Amino acid sequence: MNPYYRGARFLISAATPAQAPPDEGLEVAFAGRSNAGKSSAINALCDQKALAKTAKTPGRTRLLNFFALDGQCRLVDLPGYGFARVPEAVKRQWEKSMLDYLSKRRALQGLILVMDIRHPLKELDLQLLDWAAHSGLETHILLTKADKLSHGAAGNSLHQTRRALGRADYTGVSVQLFSALRHQGIEEAHAKLDGWLKKKGPVS
Ligand code: GDP
Repeated sequence: MNPYYRGARFLISAATPAQAPPDEGLEVAFAGRSNAGKSSAINALCDQKALAKTAKTPGRTRLLNFFALDGQCRLVDLPGYGFARVPEAVKRQWEKSMLDYLSKRRALQGLILVMDIRHPLKELDLQLLDWAAHSGLETHILLTKADKLSHGAAGNSLHQTRRALGRADYTGVSVQLFSALRHQGIEEAHAKLDGWLKKKGPVS
């Protein structure tokens, strides 16, 4: 396990971008539909059981949660989107704080988009990809819960997703298989984060 990511610690929750830590250093944000497996992915990448709260306490899910890796680098857990039972006005407010953060944050180096491998590229995922492409924000997709499919089916889904991204002209978007449950794809995801956070490799 990479000790750099294991050292992640909770920094602050921000209800609005104004409450975020100073816009300095380097950040990578995590986004995804609610229930896609985003919290589990963050926990697995940091080898901690409860860094990102998997329990869905209604208040917390609207917040941007910042985790410090060191004095310079942070991971940011963005509010999950696509909740079924949330009023439109509240949904729009979430979207607004997320897009505000994504569009204005100078520290932001890249976006990790977490998608359940069984339900990839839903409408809101596509909207976010579209928006990130237009903003020149590099994006890496984790097709998570890969353990729910056979090896062959997971590989097929990876291939189909890559093809769909290519067809939609999201050619700069990378994608990989991931499973928080099986700890699959951790090193590949770390390598992506290392690149964005300008780490040369595991710090020993
Ligand atoms: P979030 O809403 O995107 O943060 O999703 P969570 O991380 O809370 O996960 C939603 C549900 O999917 C929970 O019941 C998790 O236990 C389950 N889950 C998350 N990741 C995996 C995985 O890699 N494999 C399996 N089998 N289940 C997972």
